[in-house]
Amino acid sequence: MFEFSIARLPRIEFGAGSIMRLPDIIASYGTSVLLVTGGYSYQNLPGWQSFVETLNRRAIRLTQCKVTGEPSPDLVDEAVKAFAGHGFDVVVGIGGGSALDAAKAIAGLLCLQRSVMDYLEGVGPELPYEGPAVPLIAVPTTAGTGSEATKNAVLSVQGEHGFKKSFRHERLVAEYAIVDPELLCSCPPDVVAANGMDALTQLLESYVSIKSSAFTDALALSGLQAVRDALIPLYQSSSDASVQTSERSRLFREKMAYAALLSGITLAQVGLGSVHGLASPLGAFYPIPHGVVCGTLVASATEVNIKGMHSREPDNKALAKYAYAAEILCQQQFHDEKVAHTALIQLLTEWTQELNLPCLSKYGVEASALDKIVANSRGSSMKTNPIILHDTEIRQLLLSRL
Ligand SMILES: [Zn+2]
Repeated sequence: MFEFSIARLPRIEFGAGSIMRLPDIIASYGTSVLLVTGGYSYQNLPGWQSFVETLNRRAIRLTQCKVTGEPSPDLVDEAVKAFAGHGFDVVVGIGGGSALDAAKAIAGLLCLQRSVMDYLEGVGPELPYEGPAVPLIAVPTTAGTGSEATKNAVLSVQGEHGFKKSFRHERLVAEYAIVDPELLCSCPPDVVAANGMDALTQLLESYVSIKSSAFTDALALSGLQAVRDALIPLYQSSSDASVQTSERSRLFREKMAYAALLSGITLAQVGLGSVHGLASPLGAFYPIPHGVVCGTLVASATEVNIKGMHSREPDNKALAKYAYAAEILCQQQFHDEKVAHTALIQLLTEWTQELNLPCLSKYGVEASALDKIVANSRGSSMKTNPIILHDTEIRQLLLSRL
């Protein structure tokens, strides 16, 4: 139990107002910065103007690159080509998972000037990546993916022959993660819901992962407590601008930013499970946001895992962990493990409804496509699921959320 290795993590600056340290941190690397931003970007937040002025005062040259939607290999390649020879000292990614993943991949390839397709897992030649990467500073503005703490950039090509794969290497881990919960202020409710369910799923999946350790369990449980206290109230308050400045709203943002960060740390260390195994083909073939896949599937995936273990592996240690997760999330003691499992599934189902997470058919998924989705679900995440699921079980899991 007490044997584990901890892969490289960024230096982490967490807290309201921590974004104010960004100019100093940029300056510690040099005088030329590439800023990669996303759809809900920092440019729309009140601190943007003073950030630009501070950089100007310090004679730091700022170049911008905007990413809308989930990044594709072409987007990364075009940016790498466009910025060849700029000699950036540091790359800063500010935004949701898409912006951070794009920034991570661009920073990794700027010096090499090669296509990201050369390194992407499961497609192309999968050349060994040796760097060097330009130092990266990751600044999340949503609470979900935990990309600020991970070593992979998820890139996708969407459509019938699409894929969603990782460019993954320890050298891609950000040098700094600046997690300022106040940057979440601009998140609309549907983004809060989907990203929050992503963080929850990542925490729960890494908690029951076959690679989990005492170290990651402690972090996952702390993250689950934060999600329990903050996800639903943050969602409710995010549609009402008048309560955004209240102390309670501030606390909810802190807790969700904290939970998302921890989910990134635990997933980077011990992997995920069946929901993320399915997120790969679903996100490749259909225009479904990653967090929506997680939110819509987590309850039924948990149910299928638990049922499978009850029938085939009653001694699987993940059963006790699911029961403990139920006690944390429901804030209730259960004297019977099976009662705890039922309560956990019920709570996850209720949250899915409360957060208005749509079913898969809304994005065009049809029953006739399920076999193809199942066949493409056995990537790296599925390998750390606590039980090896049969194709029929994965199919059932999808069917219940069609
Ligand atoms: Zn995820």
